Amino acid sequence: MEYDHDAIVIGGGPAGSTFARIAAGAGLDVLVIDKRREIGVPVRCGEGLGEGEVIKKGLDLPRQCYSTPVLGAKVIAPNGKSITWKNKDTRGWVLERKCFDKWLAELAVAKGAKVHTYTRATEVLKDAKGKPNGLKIAHGGREPYEVRAPLIVSAEGMESMMARQMGFKTVHQLYDVDTCYQYEMKPYDHENLIELYFGNKIAPRGYVWIFPKADRKANVGIGIGGNVTNGEKNGMKGADPKALLESYIEGNSQLRDASTLLDFGGVISVGAPISEFVKDNCMVIGTAAKQVDPIHGGGIAIAMETGILAGNAAVEALKKKDLSRDFLYKSYEVPWRAGLGKDLEKKLALRKVMENLGDDDMNHIFGVLNDNDLKDVMDGRFAAVVAKIVAGRPQLVGALKALLG
Ligand SMILES: Cc1cc2nc3c(=O)[nH]c(=O)nc-3n(C[C@H](O)[C@H](O)[C@H](O)COP(=O)(O)OP(=O)(O)OC[C@H]3O[C@@H](n4cnc5c(N)ncnc54)[C@H](O)[C@@H]3O)c2cc1C
Repeated sequence: MEYDHDAIVIGGGPAGSTFARIAAGAGLDVLVIDKRREIGVPVRCGEGLGEGEVIKKGLDLPRQCYSTPVLGAKVIAPNGKSITWKNKDTRGWVLERKCFDKWLAELAVAKGAKVHTYTRATEVLKDAKGKPNGLKIAHGGREPYEVRAPLIVSAEGMESMMARQMGFKTVHQLYDVDTCYQYEMKPYDHENLIELYFGNKIAPRGYVWIFPKADRKANVGIGIGGNVTNGEKNGMKGADPKALLESYIEGNSQLRDASTLLDFGGVISVGAPISEFVKDNCMVIGTAAKQVDPIHGGGIAIAMETGILAGNAAVEALKKKDLSRDFLYKSYEVPWRAGLGKDLEKKLALRKVMENLGDDDMNHIFGVLNDNDLKDVMDGRFAAVVAKIVAGRPQLVGALKALLG
């Protein structure tokens, strides 16, 4: 087989571009294709990113890639009580993702990767044994043509149609997604804090977020459980994220009269990662593999971290000429599940506990916890916090015991 490249990456988001930067940096011939006309556009994201997440990857975020630094977070209970949380772990940015994603792609190009926009993968090509060895791709809606590589990487985000053709189980269940709606709004005077509003009337199985942006702007969004969205179940009408967000905005004296500058809906995965990330000659990375934080649906940092791990695994595999499932499994999937995977497992358990809490329970919890307790929760240290909560409300033992297992 004559190959055109060492690896073809489907998707030029944070996962695909980071993979390409690492693999091309080690000398591989990498092609990244993205069906969008422009990398990073249109933006469908709250654009929040923790500071440590980028710095620990050895990158220095250019000024044009973020709108404003974030100093901390404020979580607000259904009864309006809030906890403000400001420390080095809560610092970060609200990005300008159209610049950020393009910057990540440019870093890959600088290392020698080739990036083609407006180029869609339409079919996975396979050898006689059914192993992927190329793609049919179409530029700008023209006739598809074939490109060949011994390694195919799906970094396709939520759609993951090509990963499905490679045999990965990427279909989403309603229970494990959040349906979202977001406006960019102005004017909104903020304190550079991420604000999260909880309550079953505000956002059933989810929350409203306000992410601060420069020049008195903010991303104001909502995510609610896919299983409580729209439709009709047992004669009950489901919730509509856009209508709920509008009702929240109506009740917020600052936002009520603000203008909207951008308006979009989207779906995020908040469930467990897919059951396998690799097969012979192919891998799935980032949101395509449902590698997302189940508490808030954040996936940028995880996509980048995975891009580094998978990129290094690909370099080793091609050096050793071993693109078998076993080699990719040991070098990418095993360390991923032992590291990031363990952290996300704890967060999934927390999400499942949170979705069974009523507003009264949440008011109680916000009433007894402080900012240090919240840090423990986000770091997966639940024992002391659970003890504090159930001391005042023993009936929550059953709901919270999953966190102690
Ligand atoms: C409403 C909303 C708010 C969010 N807010 C945040 C947030 O504040 N912070 C955070 O960290 N995360 C957030 N996320 C999640 C975050 O956007 C994703 O987790 C992140 O973009 C994942 O990166 P990725 O590279 O895996 O996939 P993506 O960024 O989705 O990139 C996938 C790329 O693949 C391309 N593609 C797909 N199929 C094909 C094909 N067949 N051929 C060619 N190209 C293809 C797409 O065009 C896309 O550019 C949010 C998501 C939503 C929907």
